[in-house]
This record gives sequence, structure tokens and C-alpha cells, in this order.
Amino acid sequence: MYKNTEQKRIILESFKKGYFPTADELLQKIRKSYPDYSRATLYRNLASFCESGELKKISVAGQTDRFTNNVDCNYHLVCEVCGKIEDLNMPNAIQAPSKLLDYEIDYHELTFYGVCPNCQKK
Ligand SMILES: [Zn+2]
Repeated sequence: MYKNTEQKRIILESFKKGYFPTADELLQKIRKSYPDYSRATLYRNLASFCESGELKKISVAGQTDRFTNNVDCNYHLVCEVCGKIEDLNMPNAIQAPSKLLDYEIDYHELTFYGVCPNCQKK
């Protein structure tokens, strides 16, 4: 068995820029190096990383939730054909008001859906 801190470290080290795995994809990747890694541990640690802000869950319509370590990026592009996700650095990020309809606003996210260059060629 792996120690608790080790189990957490393995997850964070599996991420790289532009990688948006589902929990299952992440588990497959981790199990290549750590065959005994348990699904329950992964799910528990993913939830705790999302809570602490080290990872972020991305919910895309019609897809399983994905995770990213680029937690500062609130804008994403999604290809409706192949499901690819990309971080989008918006040249003119929306300045969200701190209050809307008496809600105190913490953050906002924006997802653009379209067809990626690869899928356009097909
Ligand atoms: Zn595509």
C-alpha cells in the first residue's frame, strides 16, 4: 500500500498542461505505474483537491466530468465532435460584477462549443 501523502502526490504528478482526464482516465494512467491504486482513494483525493483548489472539476454538457490542474483558467473550448477540451486565454476576459441580483459572486466559468481544427479537416 502507498502512504496517504504518496497517494495524493501521485495524482498531482499525473497532471500536465492541457490534460483534462476523467477520473477513470486518470485511474488508468496512474495504474500503469501503481497497479494497486484504488478507485476509492482516487475519488476521495480528487474531491479533496477540488476543495482545496489544487485541481478543478470541469463539467461539460454530455460528457463525464473532467479535471484540470490549471485552476486559474475559467474559459474553455470544447470540440463537439471529438470531445477535446482546451484552455482558452480570453484576450478580453469578462469583468464579472461582485454582485448580481443580490448574489455575492465568487467566480464564473465560460465554455465555448464548436468543432476543432482536426475535426474540421475530416
Ligand atoms: Zn475535434
